Amino acid sequence: MQETEIVVVGAGIAGLTATLCLQRAGKRVALLEGADRSGGRVRSINGGLDGTARFDTGPAWVWPRWQPHVQRWLEDLSIRPFAQFEGGEAVLDGFGPQVIRQHLPGQDGISRLSGGPSAIVEGLEDRIRPETIKFNAQVLAIDTVDDGLCVQMRGGDQIHCAKVVLATPLRIIAEQIRINAIEPELRNLMQRTPTWMAQQAKAVILYQAPFWRERGLSGRVASRTGPLVEIHDHSPEDAKSGALFGFVGWPHEDRRRDPGALRTAIGEQLVRCFGSEAAHPQDVILQDWATESLICSKIDLDEPPEHPDIGPELLRRGYLSDRLWFVASETASISPGLIEGALVAGETTAMRLLESCQTDNCLPAPSSVG
Ligand SMILES: Cc1cc2nc3c(=O)[nH]c(=O)nc-3n(C[C@H](O)[C@H](O)[C@H](O)COP(=O)(O)OP(=O)(O)OC[C@H]3O[C@@H](n4cnc5c(N)ncnc54)[C@H](O)[C@@H]3O)c2cc1C
Repeated sequence: MQETEIVVVGAGIAGLTATLCLQRAGKRVALLEGADRSGGRVRSINGGLDGTARFDTGPAWVWPRWQPHVQRWLEDLSIRPFAQFEGGEAVLDGFGPQVIRQHLPGQDGISRLSGGPSAIVEGLEDRIRPETIKFNAQVLAIDTVDDGLCVQMRGGDQIHCAKVVLATPLRIIAEQIRINAIEPELRNLMQRTPTWMAQQAKAVILYQAPFWRERGLSGRVASRTGPLVEIHDHSPEDAKSGALFGFVGWPHEDRRRDPGALRTAIGEQLVRCFGSEAAHPQDVILQDWATESLICSKIDLDEPPEHPDIGPELLRRGYLSDRLWFVASETASISPGLIEGALVAGETTAMRLLESCQTDNCLPAPSSVG
């Protein structure tokens, strides 16, 4: 059996942040990621004229003016924000017999990132020791053993360690990770905490140029008809090519049943809102997060989407004598569910865990615990 001091489970922004903070404090860490890539809900794809522009199929925005932790991490990782394009009129779709052009107020400070939110993932990963991350390492169980914790992975591998940080969505823990000695109250709380955007699908539509801008349109659409209920300009900062993104309003069952019909309906909506030039995109990329079994739980599929509230302190304290901690964005005391929440949770939990090490010195726990 392998041994390390701390195992972090999940290489989204929260898990990567926690890992980096723990390594900077001199700890030996193994980061186990169930998928074959890091980033979790953050995923960008390359495209555009020369294939180097970044388009986001997960999160697209941060609000550095209002998010001091995002601001600080962007500086630390040398990532530059730029303003979301909002010049011109929006289109209201389904608010009358024809689409309506109208000015809509923008969001103060809404920003995109040079390199997309994936730049945060890459920046964190670059600063973590390369041998730390193990991909395709889905954790199935955590057991207390006499002198610490034993982490069991799919395929049978095990790691023995003093502490575990679970950086996976809380509902995924409740449904998929067997933890002995966990209290029913905590399990209920995990089940009640929605994973932000887990059941969402997003479409990114690539064009040769942002032609709507020349017609005085911002690229923004508010739609009652759909299938995209909101559309935004997602062109590269230099506008050398064009892109829009939209949130899909169809329920996940309908998306899965007929993806072809969804694509056709998206095409028709784009022409309705932006004219015939919209009929010939270079590409339409659909990312359905509801199909990601390590992110979207069964409860997320069954319940209407909900933004998580700031959860109770129960989510931010250590369990099993400070050997087990939780850090997904939804556990944060600031901006839960958002990128800022993931950074805050990763950093704060790492600090609390390190404080706990000062009392137990990260030594193997006594056999009486658990
Ligand atoms: C479509 C969409 C749009 C969004 N828009 C925005 C936005 O504009 N701005 C914003 O701030 N936020 C936005 N968000 C939310 C933002 O993406 C999340 O808050 C953030 O990425 C969460 O990071 P995390 O590390 O907490 O969790 P996740 O990114 O969910 O990472 C969890 C990781 O754990 C792994 N994992 C799960 N189970 C296991 C297991 N058993 N073993 C090992 N690994 C496991 C997963 O594979 C995953 O890599 C959006 C999200 C989506 C999906």
